[in-house]
Amino acid sequence: LRRNPGETEFFQAVDEIFASLSPVMERHPEYVEHGILRRMVEPERQIIFRVPWVDDKGVVKINRGFRVQFNSALGPYKGGTRFHPSVYLGIMKFLGFEQVFKNALTGMPIGGGKGGADFNPAGRSEGEIMRFCQSYITELYRHIGEHTDVPAGDIGVGTREIGYMFGQYRRITNRFEAGVFTGKGVSWGGSLVRPEATGNGVVMFANQMLKTQGTSLDGATVTISGSGNVAINAIDYAQRLGSRVITASDSSGYVVDEQGIDIDLLHQVKTVERGRISDYAERRSQARFIADGSVWDVPVDVALPCATQNELNGDDAVTLIKNGVKAVAEGANMPSTQNAIHTFRDAGVLFGPGKAANAGGVATSALEMQQNASRDTWSFDYTHARLEENMEDIHDRCIATAEDFGHPGDYVTGANIAGFLKVADAMIAQGII
Ligand code: NDP
Repeated sequence: LRRNPGETEFFQAVDEIFASLSPVMERHPEYVEHGILRRMVEPERQIIFRVPWVDDKGVVKINRGFRVQFNSALGPYKGGTRFHPSVYLGIMKFLGFEQVFKNALTGMPIGGGKGGADFNPAGRSEGEIMRFCQSYITELYRHIGEHTDVPAGDIGVGTREIGYMFGQYRRITNRFEAGVFTGKGVSWGGSLVRPEATGNGVVMFANQMLKTQGTSLDGATVTISGSGNVAINAIDYAQRLGSRVITASDSSGYVVDEQGIDIDLLHQVKTVERGRISDYAERRSQARFIADGSVWDVPVDVALPCATQNELNGDDAVTLIKNGVKAVAEGANMPSTQNAIHTFRDAGVLFGPGKAANAGGVATSALEMQQNASRDTWSFDYTHARLEENMEDIHDRCIATAEDFGHPGDYVTGANIAGFLKVADAMIAQGII
């Protein structure tokens, strides 16, 4: 705490993982001897830098850029880039720390990292977004590379922003190094299915959890929070699997659409027009827009938080349970507070933590890196089948590990221990570094 003052979200992420590890430490005292826990919470490298840019009125603006290169024992640092005004070191470190375990859990050869800036893209023109991305990369380019650190998107960063960053990287380095970013456009080195992967993957994971209880998403009523990349692709895929998704949200409120969200309209409003969720309700007569309260007040079978950290608290969990929720899978990173997680577990609700349930995005990023390395392009169907296989493997690894360490059916314990073991063993094999 003294060394990392004020980094609340980082402490929360560390607590959540370390709380699962006591059975591992009992069985493997060598991890204590090698100082593994103390080494794991210290990022290998943290880069913090000035991002100067000029807005459309000619005013000079200064933001703070970050890249936290957390752990590369399993491969190059890999993790998204977040542009949001709330970004500070504590958020970057929580995301980077989670990413280390998530990436290990995918079974792919990737380490963990995260980056971003306290830049607010809302309301900024195309030119301002481009200049900001260029300035961000003008510093960061020297710290990344296909064998070093491979950024992707996250909140506020999609294909458009990756394009501007990749362009500036290519210009400075004079190299078309496709593998330095993932989430690229398909015509310049991106992978089919990458945009859909996180949202589709969380739905696959929820379905796999339900199947262990002899049910499925077919016919289920589902609430989803958010209306960005992850949420839209989760809504779309859940509806394809036969469920009725009745909510979507953004930071201004949420909509309830009892007939099921019209995915084309939502995509048009939020992705094409970059509008607000209330615009959706204005154009769809049966939908209601609610500015106060919480999306979790709506009775459902399955809840998929897909917006941001700490968006589902203990009270929300109690309400969801009272309303009959059977499964919760996290599309966002750390959307449920510790209190909410304990409440779900105590009530026997199936709970898929983000580092397992939303790992489809980074797993497909690793597939993008494979395609770039072999200068190959895979079909949508083949890549989607690989995503499904990955999600099944992750699900089964969580179940098997939880069982092995005496917590059958506990996906949180399973995910944390499975990820930890892989990273810890690699760290020991590579010496005290
Ligand atoms: P987007 O920027 O595409 O969408 C984010 C959505 O969440 C928007 O609807 C946004 O609303 C909402 N949101 C953000 N902050 C808040 C807030 N403080 N309160 C309420 N709503 C908020 O991001 P993504 O969909 O890519 O990311 C969503 C989550 O998924 C994040 O936690 C991210 O870390 C996680 N994730 C993303 C992956 C990916 O592949 N993109 C991979 C794995 C995890 P508004 O427009 O009003 O800000």
